[in-house]
Parts: sequence; structure tokens; C-alpha cells
Amino acid sequence: MNRQLDQSDLFTMLVRGLFRRCARCGGKGAFLTGWKKQEERCKTCGFAWQRDLVGFQLGAAAINFILTGGSLLFVMAIGVTTTYPDVPAWPLIAVVGSVALFVGIGGYPTSYTVWLAIDLRLRPLSEDEIADAAEHARS
Ligand SMILES: [Zn+2]
Repeated sequence: MNRQLDQSDLFTMLVRGLFRRCARCGGKGAFLTGWKKQEERCKTCGFAWQRDLVGFQLGAAAINFILTGGSLLFVMAIGVTTTYPDVPAWPLIAVVGSVALFVGIGGYPTSYTVWLAIDLRLRPLSEDEIADAAEHARS
């Protein structure tokens, strides 16, 4: 059993999640093999990510909202500060709207992997889950 897998700090796990990697092991393309197609387990460490779906979907939606809102505010702030005092309202609205759609829809899988990092930190794997993952891990 690889104990180091479950010793990563939250920052490392969040960065892995941002790049759609497994928060536990950093395995590439874990869980989400397409935009919406989900695997039951991480292809690398065997971790079954659907531990308890009650509330998980809501957490992922909240992360998507935060990522979308954050990028929207970021782009809006850059647009306003670089063009002030003659802020081009309609072009800025078009750019901000495009960013909101792109991040909101395109970031859907990322919101799952980021939330998984937080979920793993809040509810560490039990001994049974670790043993189950080890059985399904690619060796
Ligand atoms: Zn993994």
C-alpha cells in the first residue's frame, strides 16, 4: 500500500485538480476521459472517486461558479483598468460573456477534479478505500 499517495498537501491536490489530474496521485486524464464521460476509478491509482455523491455534485457546481465568476471579474477588471476612462462597454460585455461561457461550460470537468481535491482533504480515504484502490491500481 502506498501511503505517500494520501500525504499530499491541499495546494498540490488543487493544482492537480486544475489540470484535470487525479487529486490523489496526479494521474493524467483521471476520471474524466471526455468532456462529460466519467470513469469509475482513477486509471493510475485505482481510487474510486464516486465515494458519496450526496452533495458532491453541489460542491462541483459551486467550484464551477467560483471559477467562472472569478475569471469573469478578472477579465472585467483588466478590461476596465486598461481602457479607463473610455471603457468600450459593448466589446467588453462581449468578451466577458464569452469568457463566462468558455470557462463555465469548458471548465465543467475541471470543477469536478478541483472539488475532488477539496473533498479528499475534508474526508480522507478510509483504510478500506485505500485497500480497494490498491487492488485496482495500475502497477
Ligand atoms: Zn489517482
